[in-house]
Amino acid sequence: MTGGTLRDRCPACGSADLAEVFTRAEWRDAALRERRDAWAAMEADPELAFDAFLRCGACGTLFTDRVPPPAALGRFYGAYSGTARSLAKIKSKLGLETRRLFCLRLAVRGRRFLDVGSGIGCAVEAARRNGFAAAGIEPGADAVEIARRHFPRNEYFVGTLDALPAGRQFDLVQCVEVLEHVPNPQRLVAQLAAAVAPGGLLFLTTPDAGHHTVRGDPLRWGMVCPPEHLTLFTRDGVRAALAPHFHRVIVLPNRKPGVRVLAFKGKN
Ligand SMILES: [Zn+2]
Repeated sequence: MTGGTLRDRCPACGSADLAEVFTRAEWRDAALRERRDAWAAMEADPELAFDAFLRCGACGTLFTDRVPPPAALGRFYGAYSGTARSLAKIKSKLGLETRRLFCLRLAVRGRRFLDVGSGIGCAVEAARRNGFAAAGIEPGADAVEIARRHFPRNEYFVGTLDALPAGRQFDLVQCVEVLEHVPNPQRLVAQLAAAVAPGGLLFLTTPDAGHHTVRGDPLRWGMVCPPEHLTLFTRDGVRAALAPHFHRVIVLPNRKPGVRVLAFKGKN
């Protein structure tokens, strides 16, 4: 053990019934070809590393036995090259988000929208085009700069949800493929719930470690990519994490290994 915070409870449901699934060395041997960069980052900075992946006996969530300190993760994402890749796909991503927001708008009455982890702003712009007053929050300052340039009619915040002005709430909050990245997912869920206005809706997606195509052999699953992905939830795990904060949680059907959830907040 060389750094980071130990996790001795399931970050989804809180259970202490945990079993080791594979070690870091086993993961390296199975994933080295595709995950060479992640391995190198962990070798260079032991604070980014883990010793083993654990599985929760209660909800099936799969997670690293320790999580990097925020400063180490900040350095890791500072060297991240995802923004250029997103920019190359801006048109198709905007189309996908516009179709999704067209459906989601039917589930809420209010028209205040926030995308958490908004990247270069495609979902924010898609929400605006569907009639929302749209905002995005994103820790990558370079991505926010691109969003402001391409989609200037929206509001943007740089940072995590800590940077959201106190008391700001939205009728629809979207959080797509973010939960698996953060060192403290329960804290993020509480912050997401706080950002949803009474009667509002959270739409959240994250990979599904309980899906029949990956459950039996998680070592070969590409989503097992620390230090980017630290917690791989299941349908039960997401439900357990959201239930204390929301009035009603609906897990949508998905043939692929991804959890998609609508979480409704009570009116008061
Ligand atoms: Zn659990």
